[in-house]
Amino acid sequence: MTSWRLSPFLKLCVAVHAALLLAWLAAPQYWPWLLLALLLLHGGIALAGLLPRCALLGPNLTRLPAAAIRRGEVAITIDDGPDPAVTPAVLDILRQYRAPATFFCIGERAQRHPELCRRAVAEGHDIENHGQRHRKHTSLFGPAGWHGEVGGGQGTLQAITGRSPRFYRPIAGLRNPFLDPLLQRSGVFLASWTRRGYDTRARDPDTVYARLVRNLAAGDILLLHDGNAARTADGKPLILAVLPRLLDELAARGLKPVTLRQACETD
Ligand SMILES: [Zn+2]
Repeated sequence: MTSWRLSPFLKLCVAVHAALLLAWLAAPQYWPWLLLALLLLHGGIALAGLLPRCALLGPNLTRLPAAAIRRGEVAITIDDGPDPAVTPAVLDILRQYRAPATFFCIGERAQRHPELCRRAVAEGHDIENHGQRHRKHTSLFGPAGWHGEVGGGQGTLQAITGRSPRFYRPIAGLRNPFLDPLLQRSGVFLASWTRRGYDTRARDPDTVYARLVRNLAAGDILLLHDGNAARTADGKPLILAVLPRLLDELAARGLKPVTLRQACETD
């Protein structure tokens, strides 16, 4: 357990609230302008939670730490599983390339297919927390909603793998100011990504691959999906069409796949 520290942006927001209150007490006739300022402030806070790579609400891992960059490391992160129709083939590919990856699993899916989580851990991958239910309206969560989603996922995945997740990724990276205090107190880090392939929507593997390797460099955190994976025109899950090519490209460039935990714990 660590104590919670407000981000500089949220400290500023608290100060602006106080200033608006004092201004209203001093000059209540200006209330329409003060109300407008308040609405704009809250719009800004909401927007910060809708931008997945934004760090205004609290720490947010969008790239690997400096030491991992110096070591030429890249983290492949795989969301929304486990899925019995896709995950075993993903694990086969990763084993073939001896490439560790980070699986952001959904608690309820992990409960249905615990053997896939255990296989992933046994083969050197890490299981991290993508929420117990992968609920879509996280932007509207209060502390209890976040506790159910984050705490539920932590408990489920710990029970299955014997290891407590170190990272949490909300659905689509959406969040609000109530998430960060919970994460900080739990010792769990928010992790987003450097680039994503949008492989739950795109049907063309070339497009997804091009998105992932554009400006590819050491320190990148790449996002693919084994759960909710779109299918190619011939019915193949996108990740299976893209992953071997991506791993070939990493090897060709001398970049080393690691898990988020490996990259951050050896910093
Ligand atoms: Zn997801």
